[in-house]
Amino acid sequence: MLSVEEAGERILAAFARLSPEPVPVLEALGLVLAEDIVAGFDIPPRANSAMDGYAVRVADTTGAAMDAPRRLRISSNLAAGYVSETPVEPGTAIRIMTGAPVPEGSEAVIQVELTEREGDDVLVLAEIAARRNIREAGEDVQAGQTVLTAGTRIRPAEVGVLASLGLPSAPCIRRPRVAILATGDELLEPGDPLAPGKIYNANAYSTAAQVREAGGEPLLLGIARDTRESLSEKIEQAIGQGADMILSSGGVSVGDFDLVKDMLAAQGEINFWQVNMKPGKPLAFGHLGGVPMIGLPGNPVSSMISFEIFGRPAIQKMLGQPIVGRRKVEALMEEAYQKTDDRRHYLRVRVREEADGWRAHLTGEQGSGILTSLTRANGIAVIPESWESVQPGQQVPVWLLP
Ligand code: AMP
Ligand code: MG
Repeated sequence: MLSVEEAGERILAAFARLSPEPVPVLEALGLVLAEDIVAGFDIPPRANSAMDGYAVRVADTTGAAMDAPRRLRISSNLAAGYVSETPVEPGTAIRIMTGAPVPEGSEAVIQVELTEREGDDVLVLAEIAARRNIREAGEDVQAGQTVLTAGTRIRPAEVGVLASLGLPSAPCIRRPRVAILATGDELLEPGDPLAPGKIYNANAYSTAAQVREAGGEPLLLGIARDTRESLSEKIEQAIGQGADMILSSGGVSVGDFDLVKDMLAAQGEINFWQVNMKPGKPLAFGHLGGVPMIGLPGNPVSSMISFEIFGRPAIQKMLGQPIVGRRKVEALMEEAYQKTDDRRHYLRVRVREEADGWRAHLTGEQGSGILTSLTRANGIAVIPESWESVQPGQQVPVWLLP
């Protein structure tokens, strides 16, 4: 049986970085910039006031003090967004608001707190140095400057910078389109009335949420019934919608109705089936219509753990991002765990950091159908193939879930 590493390598090898396309700046959050962004103009475009106050000539404030105010005539009022039609003449001041471009002739802005108003005059109560309270043109960004470089991952600050450059969109590696389909005659969609023998489709939604969290765009294709025709129809839909990856759940174990792996083998190319792990052993991987398809196991915990290990890195690779796992810590396990096979086990744990290190305890029953074991977990303990058990007090590697 394939090791987790070997399976992971084979899956990753089937994916490549996607092509760039213009993406609206807000949607670009989390994406990777595909080209350098060069400023076409200065930011700020003009010198402007950093304060509410008065634009003045420096010489008109010489010697000014609380007990020796200098009186200037206020020639006009200037709000942000407007350019003064008149310069600051000697002996005058222009009332100016934060962000308004400083008028010609003004050498500094004296903040309103250091002045006193008297009708159409202002009393200046302190000397002011040249360029004080003026934000110079280009002090943030200069025309011709490379502001953001290709390969940058876009965070809220980068979204803001792109907008400040006047760009409605930016060239980014696009989000992978991930078709998601559930399989099973037993499945109902949330919202349907519960019926005998049926259960709700959990996996399509947990997988779609994982895809979205990883930066992909989930395409929910609904439920394929356990027939060749129904499954074929869904897979054709996935290919028709331009999916970069297909994720199915269920239909990969050895039951009579486990069609997914048979279909991969018969109508596409199957690369492998089964990985030496628990949960998640019956994973299938191959291509259908040229599109890589990961057949995730049907059990809800298996499906989520398998996506974490194999799906998330594939999405990171398509996004052009570094392939990074979760933060890993060593934790002291608080209870015993017995293994009965030589697979790698992924245990749902609750971890906490104490003064002398991390502690982990199991979130209860570890069956692969017990999805609430994951809602209670904030970590996954990874127990190596060669271990036979975990003893209380033993150190285990744990991935921290966000
Ligand atoms: P299978 O691999 O199709 O035999 O499925 C294994 C187990 O997972 C069965 O108990 C299924 O009922 C269950 N299962 C399969 N698909 C889903 C799903 N989408 N949501 C919840 N449980 C599922
Ligand atoms: Mg099934």
